Amino acid sequence: MHKSAKFALCIINSNLKKGERMAALFSKTQKACVTCNFWSGSRDLAPCNQRVTAQPNASGKCMTGVYKGIDKMAIANCDKWVPWGVFK
Ligand code: SF4
Repeated sequence: MHKSAKFALCIINSNLKKGERMAALFSKTQKACVTCNFWSGSRDLAPCNQRVTAQPNASGKCMTGVYKGIDKMAIANCDKWVPWGVFK
């Protein structure tokens, strides 16, 4: 399969719920809380296991470091970022 075709497939199959605003797609290399192993917010792994979808305004508690127990926005980040363990 051509690379761009695989990318399109990932977008088409993202898990949007009925009535929900369109979720944003984040690459596994994008250093943000939404792609971090220590973020507890709501997110969905794209079928290709290389990207994650989430509402851009989603938030969740950080589970480590100085931000442990603090709500962090999906697009926030810090220098303790570690890629989500489910990425391939
Ligand atoms: S604050 Fe840092 S360690 Fe916590 S979830 Fe965000 S990127 Fe990960």
